Amino acid sequence: MGVPKRKVSKARQGERRSHLAISAPPLVECSHCHELKLAHRVCPTCGYYDGREVVAIEPTTPAEGQR
Ligand SMILES: [Zn+2]
Repeated sequence: MGVPKRKVSKARQGERRSHLAISAPPLVECSHCHELKLAHRVCPTCGYYDGREVVAIEPTTPAEGQR
């Protein structure tokens, strides 16, 4: 098994990790309800995609997502 000859210095380690930062998700405005949504995804607020309703969104309850 190959074994590194030298310890990777903190500077070199930081250079390698300089590209690891995560960027903000590509949010775009929904053309139907004008909420921010992920690009190329069905809008989670109104269920529309490409100008038509794709997913029926039932009326949300206040306890949504706390099940
Ligand atoms: Zn929408």
